[in-house]
Amino acid sequence: MPHANLIGKPGEGLRIGLGAIAPSRVAIAAQSIGIAERAFQLGLEYASVRKAFGQSIAQFQNSRFVLADCRTELDQAWLLMLRAAHLLDQGVPIRSEASMAKLAGSETCGRVVDRMLQLHGGNGYSREYEIERLYRDARVMRIFEGTSEIQREVIARDLAV
Ligand SMILES: Cc1cc2nc3c(=O)[nH]c(=O)nc-3n(C[C@H](O)[C@H](O)[C@H](O)COP(=O)(O)OP(=O)(O)OC[C@H]3O[C@@H](n4cnc5c(N)ncnc54)[C@H](O)[C@@H]3O)c2cc1C
Repeated sequence: MPHANLIGKPGEGLRIGLGAIAPSRVAIAAQSIGIAERAFQLGLEYASVRKAFGQSIAQFQNSRFVLADCRTELDQAWLLMLRAAHLLDQGVPIRSEASMAKLAGSETCGRVVDRMLQLHGGNGYSREYEIERLYRDARVMRIFEGTSEIQREVIARDLAV
């Protein structure tokens, strides 16, 4: 590699690499929330249209509670992601905040997409419905850019435990 292309001093690669990971964890948090928001929208629409036992499934208390939980958890994850992005913009080190945003975003994404697929019943398992693809897309969010276990490890380490 040409010397002019070095982005730091030799021996600093790990520090530079780790410095890039926090911002990209915030980006994965945002991506996870984007997937989950789309799944939520699809679940809401489907539950309003699909009828069972003479009423839309959105009218069953169970569906309403599921939708309420998803909305609440999505907003929680969104706020953690915004906090990390805001601190990043201020130039503040955000190791834990980025891990919390990534952990909450990706775990929320998994839960929300799973519940929205469940609301679709058997149709949710079919490729004819977009929710099936979102279910597959959601799964990797808990794995790449550091697994959920690694995010917990980072957060715990910053608590000095
Ligand atoms: C679609 C996709 C795209 C990817 N893109 C990129 C990319 O662009 N660039 C890149 O560099 N990488 C990329 N990766 C790799 C990704 O970052 C790794 O797969 C991820 O960090 C997990 O590492 P691993 O697969 O080696 O799993 P492992 O480290 O083998 O982990 C296996 C399991 O053990 C657990 N585990 C491991 N260590 C600990 C620990 N200390 N404490 C508790 N549990 C632990 C993990 O949480 C996991 O559940 C990509 C992966 C996928 C699936």
